[in-house]
Formats: sequence, structure tokens, C-alpha cells
Amino acid sequence: MTISSFPPIHKPSRDDMPVAPNLEYAKTRAGFDWQQMYSELDWLPGGYLNKAHEAIDRHANGPRRDKIAMIWEGKNGEREDYTFGQLKTLTNKFANVIKSLGIETGDRVFLFMDRLPETYIAFFGILKAGAVVGPLFSAFGPDPVRDRLQDSGAKVLVTQPELRRRITGIIPELFELQHIIIVNKNNRDTEGRDMADLDWDEEMGKASTDFDTVRTSQYDYSVMHYTSGTTGKPKGAVHRHQAVVQQYATGKWALDLHEDDVYWCTADPGWVTGTSYGMLAPWTNGLTQLIYEGGFRASAWYEMLQKHKVSVWYTAPTAIRMLMKAGEELPHRYDLSRLRYSCSVGEPLNPEAVVWGEKAIGMPFHDNWWQTETGAILVANYPEMDIRPGSMGRPIPGVEVGVVDENFDPAPPGVDGNLVVRPGWPSMFHSYWNNTEMYNSRFRKGWYVTGDSARVDEDGYFWFVGRTDDVINTAGHLVGPFEVESALIEHPAVAEAGVIGKPDPIAMEIVKAFVALKDGVEATPALQRELTRFTRQKLSAGVAPREIEFVPTLPKTRSGKIMRRLLKARELGLPEGDTSTLEEEE
Ligand code: ATP
Ligand code: MG
Repeated sequence: MTISSFPPIHKPSRDDMPVAPNLEYAKTRAGFDWQQMYSELDWLPGGYLNKAHEAIDRHANGPRRDKIAMIWEGKNGEREDYTFGQLKTLTNKFANVIKSLGIETGDRVFLFMDRLPETYIAFFGILKAGAVVGPLFSAFGPDPVRDRLQDSGAKVLVTQPELRRRITGIIPELFELQHIIIVNKNNRDTEGRDMADLDWDEEMGKASTDFDTVRTSQYDYSVMHYTSGTTGKPKGAVHRHQAVVQQYATGKWALDLHEDDVYWCTADPGWVTGTSYGMLAPWTNGLTQLIYEGGFRASAWYEMLQKHKVSVWYTAPTAIRMLMKAGEELPHRYDLSRLRYSCSVGEPLNPEAVVWGEKAIGMPFHDNWWQTETGAILVANYPEMDIRPGSMGRPIPGVEVGVVDENFDPAPPGVDGNLVVRPGWPSMFHSYWNNTEMYNSRFRKGWYVTGDSARVDEDGYFWFVGRTDDVINTAGHLVGPFEVESALIEHPAVAEAGVIGKPDPIAMEIVKAFVALKDGVEATPALQRELTRFTRQKLSAGVAPREIEFVPTLPKTRSGKIMRRLLKARELGLPEGDTSTLEEEE
């Protein structure tokens, strides 16, 4: 009934672990009350809550003032370190800058930036000023930027010279945009700026280092993120300051952050993982974190882990599959002895990838599940808990997660159903910007409907099946694409696989797989037959793909998710729909 045939990975007892895990799952989950966690926050006088205060100022005002909060490594090898104390001063300055521009509580200020220190400074400065911050991924072209800035009605945009040039054509269409602030990092750009724009250094130079963080309530809006666009047009999910309590708690529980850790989250702040876990979770926990501006290259990533003595690492399945492609040998050339805990999110993590972690980096990857809408981790594998490879783990304390049938009755163990969450978890999104109807449609019969399909086993472990829209109905069987993809990538020739249901007059749908092969492997009819045989052995004949097509790469979102809806649209010759987040294809 489980999706994988891999045996469980057993964990030593707590006492035998070099670092005792923060979370004792069963004990904490029993009778948990969020009040316990709220009381670990610092709060502002009068019961106000602001994420920037919890992430930065509370440490800057206390014993962590001179602790390094951010180690920044630039793409050209530059290095800058920032203490919590310095971040407090810089974010105060930026809060003064945007206040001086007339920004009020609730106004939207957007970032269109690479992973620069200024991105992080601006993010928290905006929150201190009481405004709502919206980060955009820096690889976006003009259209996705225009759509998001128009939809959100952003008044200020912080960006960089080369990105500003990329979107020059759309600026006249942004009627609510009042100011553009340009960060020319280390004067890397020599082309000169548009005189109508403001210059970061000039504005920061004039700004006072004192700022009284705006007294936002826990219910005030703080961060908005557009979703990845995997299943359709991206939605602007809006979060409140209150989300910080769950980001803090899950940083402790699921990422097991400890005071002396060096933490690296590889996600870009243009996506929710890059803010919830690339900013809020580590810093509310007072940690030192690495920010690496460069992009993915297997050797560069291992180099980062070694050089900065990273101990906790949070990454994503696509990256792990690319590391796997680069081979198991490569990581052994680096000293990864400080690394003690690794996690993954964003897509289903194939059991093969979980187990590969053990061989390659000396530990399995701990998968966890959440969404832009959920604001923070809801289901996770924890350090003290045995891993069942292919399972997303178990719900965090204080949250009820279920699998239900179409009548919203609980599905029995092992039976697929809709993955739902009881509303009211602290980091729950509070709206889809300008789309109340869509927001309301996600809440049914006392549940939040995630749009994912899953099953739960007798011991309460959750197993991802697929997006509800992607589940395939073939001759009366419901087949989750993840199961088929995972079987395919167990074959040594396969790098990645994307599986869809292709309409069929007899079976209703047949299972069709698109397969990208590892470098140097030739796509031959014999290999096609071999893969068919291979998957039939692993899966039942009804579930194994009836058609296998070799492709050079799979279409992915810029956040690295396989876009099955595009595979399907292309297969059927249908319109491709919103492709604003599609990564450029080779
Ligand atoms: P859109 O909502 O615009 O279609 P998206 O759902 O991909 O895009 P995100 O909020 O970034 O946008 O992604 C959340 C989704 O990613 C989840 O609903 C789930 O389908 C998938 N996901 C995230 N983590 C996991 C995981 N550990 N296992 C399986 N799926 C995951
Ligand atoms: Mg989604």
C-alpha cells in the first residue's frame, strides 16, 4: 500500500544522537497548545507583533547582537558578513527610506532582486514600516513582473540596474507605482541609471539609524507571494504577521535548528520557501545562515557546504535530482563532516533520492510538505522519527491534517483522497489578493482543501499521490503520477520523469511517461522496452506506463517543479495556459 518498496531508515535513540533533537514528537503533539509557542516570541509593547522585530531586533537588543546572522557569498566570490546588530541598523534605515516616500501601513512594496544582502535588508525594513512585502523571482521577464505589480498595486519597487532595464517597457503600465529604488551592488553596473529612479546608497546615506517599528497587530498583512503556477495562473497568497510563530516553531521542530548551527536554505526569496525558511525561521531562531548568490552547480554547492561548514541544509527535489545526476562520487571529494541534517521541500521527493542522500552525503533527506498558502511546514519527517522513504512524514504539533473522500469523510488508511487541513493554523494565508472567490472556494465543510491528493498509513505517515488535477483514471484505477515517476527514476538510465494521463477511448486515460535520460545515455527503442519491463515489475501492469517518450528535459516552473499540465497540453495540442513561471527550456 505504500508508494515505495524501500525499507524504513531507522534512527538511533535520542540519547545516541550527537545533537539531541529539539522535538519529541509524540510528547509535544499530545495536548499541544500554540500558546506555548506564542509565549516564546518577544512581542512589541502592547501586544503587537511584527516579523522584523522577532527575526532581527529581538536578537540585536540582546546577547546575540554581535552574532553573525548572514554570511553572504556573492556570485563573483565576494563575501560580506552581517551581525544581528548591523541588520537592525540597516533595516531601520530602509524603513525610514520608505516612510519618507509616504508608504503607509498595508501598502505593497515589491522586490525584484537577486539574492543580495540588500534584498534581505529591504524585506525587513518594509515589514518594520508596516508595509506588505512582495518578493519576485529575479529571472522573471517583463510580463510576469507587470502582472504581479499590477495585481498587487505595488507603490514602490526595489530592483537592480540590469533588472530595471529588462522591465523598462512595462513601467508606463504600472499606474500605482510611485518610486523605483535601484541597488547597484558594489557598483557592478556601469551603465548609469534613469534619473527618475532613486539610488539605494544615496537614500540609505540620508536615512536615520533609529526607527520605531510600526506596531502591527498579529492579524495585519506582512508578506505576499505569488504561487508557483504549476497548476494554473499564479495566485497572490497573503500572509499575516502571526505566521511568524509557526515559522519559528517549525524551524525548531522540522529543521531542528540549534544555536550553533550554520544553516543554508537554497530556495530563492522569490518563492515562499526563500522567505519563510530563508529568512524567518532561521533568524527568529537566532541562527547564522548562508546566503549564496550563485546559481546551481553541483561542485559549487558542495563547495559551499564545505567552506561555510554548513550543518543544516534545506533544499529541493529538483536540486537533489541534479546532484544525483552529477554522481555519488563528487560529494566524497568534499569535507561535509559538519553537515548533520538535510531537508527537502517543493515537490514530491522520490524514495530513491531520500536513500541516495545516505550514500552521497551520509544522511537521508528529510522530506516535508507545505504550500505557499500554508506559509510554513505542515507535514514533516523529524530528526528522531524513522523515515519511510517516499513519505512526507507526519503533521506538525498543533495542526490537524486529513485525507478525505469527495464527501469529506475520512479515507481509510491506504486509500487515496484529498489532502485537507483544519483551518486556523497560525501561518494560514488570509487571502488571495483580488480573488476572494477563489479563496473561499478552497474552504469546504470545515476544511482547507489543498488541491493535493494523498494517503495516510496505519501509523499516521502521509504519502503524496499527486495534484488532484494530475491523478490519472485508467481503466477504473486511480494512479498518482508520483508513484510511476518514482519507479522510473529508480532505473539507472533515468534522470527525471513526468507522468500524465492521456485520454483513451477504452481505458478513459492511459498512463504516459515523459523521460529525461542521464547524460551520455542513448534514447533507443530497446531502452524504451526495458523501461516498460522495469516499471511493470515494480508497479502493477495497470499502473505502469503504457507509453514512454524520451525528452531532453521536462518543462519546469522557475521554482523547479515539473509542469505536468504543460506536458499534457502539448501532448493533446491544447493551449498551454499561463506560462509566466515556466523556466526557459533548452
Ligand atoms: P500553483 O498553486 O500556482 O499551481 P504550486 O502549487 O506549485 O503552484 P507552491 O505553493 O509553490 O505552488 O507549491 C505547493 C505544492 O507543491 C503543494 O501543493 C504540492 O503539490 C507540492 N509539494 C510541496 N512540497 C511537497 C512534498 N514534500 N511532497 C509532494 N509535493 C509537494
Ligand atoms: Mg498550489
